[in-house]
Amino acid sequence: MSIKDNLDEIHRIIDVAAKKSGRTKEDITLCAVTKTVDKDRILEAIELGINNIGENKVQELRDKLEYIPKDVNIHLIGQLQTNKVKYIINHVSLIHSLDRLSLLKELDKEAKKNDRLVNALIQINLTDDSNRGGVQIGDLPEFVKMVKNYKNVRVKGLMCVAHNTDDVNVIRDDFKKMKLEFDRLMLYNIDNVSADILSMGMSSDYEIAIEEGATMVRIGTKIFGKR
Ligand SMILES: *Cc1c(COP(=O)(O)O)cnc(C)c1O
Repeated sequence: MSIKDNLDEIHRIIDVAAKKSGRTKEDITLCAVTKTVDKDRILEAIELGINNIGENKVQELRDKLEYIPKDVNIHLIGQLQTNKVKYIINHVSLIHSLDRLSLLKELDKEAKKNDRLVNALIQINLTDDSNRGGVQIGDLPEFVKMVKNYKNVRVKGLMCVAHNTDDVNVIRDDFKKMKLEFDRLMLYNIDNVSADILSMGMSSDYEIAIEEGATMVRIGTKIFGKR
């Protein structure tokens, strides 16, 4: 299947799933995950209308900057080391992987230094495995309250990766939990925290994620084929 065929199919499924959740396809942003994808195929996807791309590694992202058109939004979706924030702060439109206080501080510091604001999502870890990135749901209230002190960071919502399982009930449950926490974000009443973006759903589970309230899906394999 061509990239065009894949995108057509994804847009069709997004439309159906959005309607199931009382929304339309315009309410869902497709972030094409371009990690390991070569230049020609990335530019082909952009030609076909993709205007949000996601990368998980800072170096790879930097290498691609020279040919990615300026009007395409770049998302950092992978774990971010604090010492690398300075390389991307002026190039990314959204960081999906804010998962610890040290990163919150560094984002704020670098944003200030560059006289800008940086948009971020708090990544949630839905597993007990602390090696996986993300804030545990139990620690989320405390973390959200700290954002107030770092005014150059704008928290726009939440992001997660669902359990890696074939059990769709487990996956749906993950997304339901996320939606609950997402809706609670407004209750904190913090200036620089809003509930605009719920980033969840990948190639294997984006349909379920949208049904459960995702506003942004991150899809790689289904667009570009196996990595
Ligand atoms: C790679 C990746 C994706 C895309 O995964 P696919 O299964 O290829 O769609 C989404 N989110 C994150 C955080 C990723 O690292």
